[in-house]
Amino acid sequence: MTNALTIAKFGGTSVANYAAMQNCARIVAGNPDTRIVVVSASAGVTNYLVSLAHTAMTQDQISQTCQAIEDIERAILACLKDQQEIEPKLNDLLDEMRALALHEEIMHRNDLKDGLLSMGERMSSLLFSAVLAEENVSTMNFDVRKVLRTDSEFGAAAPQLEDIAALSEQLLRPEIENAIVVTQGFVGADEEGRTTTLGRGGSDFTAALLAEALNAQVCEIWTDVIGVYTTDPRITDAARPLPELSFEEAAEMATFGAKVLHPATMEPALRKDIRVFVGSSKEPEKGGTWIMRDCQEEPPYRAITRRKEQVMVTVKTPKMMYAQGFLQQVFAIIAKHKLSVDLVTTSEISVSFTLDNPANSVAQRLNKETIAELETLCDVTVESGYDLVTVVGNHMQTAKGVSSKIFAAVSDYNLRMICFGANPHNMSFLVNEQDSNDIVTGLHKTLFE
Ligand code: ASP
Ligand code: MG
Repeated sequence: MTNALTIAKFGGTSVANYAAMQNCARIVAGNPDTRIVVVSASAGVTNYLVSLAHTAMTQDQISQTCQAIEDIERAILACLKDQQEIEPKLNDLLDEMRALALHEEIMHRNDLKDGLLSMGERMSSLLFSAVLAEENVSTMNFDVRKVLRTDSEFGAAAPQLEDIAALSEQLLRPEIENAIVVTQGFVGADEEGRTTTLGRGGSDFTAALLAEALNAQVCEIWTDVIGVYTTDPRITDAARPLPELSFEEAAEMATFGAKVLHPATMEPALRKDIRVFVGSSKEPEKGGTWIMRDCQEEPPYRAITRRKEQVMVTVKTPKMMYAQGFLQQVFAIIAKHKLSVDLVTTSEISVSFTLDNPANSVAQRLNKETIAELETLCDVTVESGYDLVTVVGNHMQTAKGVSSKIFAAVSDYNLRMICFGANPHNMSFLVNEQDSNDIVTGLHKTLFE
């Protein structure tokens, strides 16, 4: 048995097709410490499944969408050296997917939606275990629902850590003695055995949760970029990969818009001091980013992130002057509507806060009802068209000159809101969306080039 148990997770592009899967299989077979592999659905498949689950479709549209998924899966099957064992299993999964899609279309039940969403990972893990077996290692496909216990919040299920630890010890640990276990990211099951999912991009989180449950030393996140960058390379080509990051910095980056990691991934890693590696399955020789507790360096500036589509709410009332409990009432309403507040600034009679708005989901919940409820307390203004730019680093509260350098770099722009001081790792600005590219590029130049 291994001393440095490693869990390797491969994202959707890494398992998009047979050739991509072969790269991953070589990475796994090349590291004897890797005993568990967590896979995402092949690229594109979850998007199709989401459209099956969440849009009204005719029978024809359902069967076309299912066919598009089937084509992706069968193309991989067709490349396998030995298809006989896998083909009937894949056929069963494709049948299950079609049945769920039709059933969901009539019933609109959330448990059926999650069952449907899980099919991508269930198929990719079956196929990947077969590709891995071609590297002459012993492998098995393990149903993660046996161990990844969650609550019943379908679509965004919360993991039940104690159950996951106990079940993994009992059912998963014995398997890794004899085989490299290939399992599904993103998917779980509630107490009643109903399939749940952890939210989009949740496979990273699965890998970290299993690493935590089995006290693994390393959790590798293999994707299509050679690590975490100083900023999104699509904003400026001066962005460069980072050799190391602390857990805190990585958590800030993921929360404030870096797309490489699911924001919840760092929590288990932090709790159990698991080292997280991010690298490219296409170019493993290029190395990647190590995320760990103690980095060799703690620079004041590590990276710049951007999160788009921010909504800012300002609540204002003269009654707030000298009043107590106003903020609490405002936030109680926000919490009741399951909105998540990010930044807050206050003045004597008003409070402004931002709400994350991924793909406009906030706009749907920040509906007339929420606003009307707030308006019973105060005047409410809702503004959109903002992006949030965050500089992530270390000792930002105490190091001299850190903030003045940042402010100098953004002095030409209108900053709608500034947040700084709650922790030493970030400084955030809410800016007009048309300025955010220039602001990130300018900050990058000043701080890193
Ligand atoms: N397949 C899921 C998604 O696309 C989970 C993941 O890839 O992490 O969101
Ligand atoms: Mg993904």
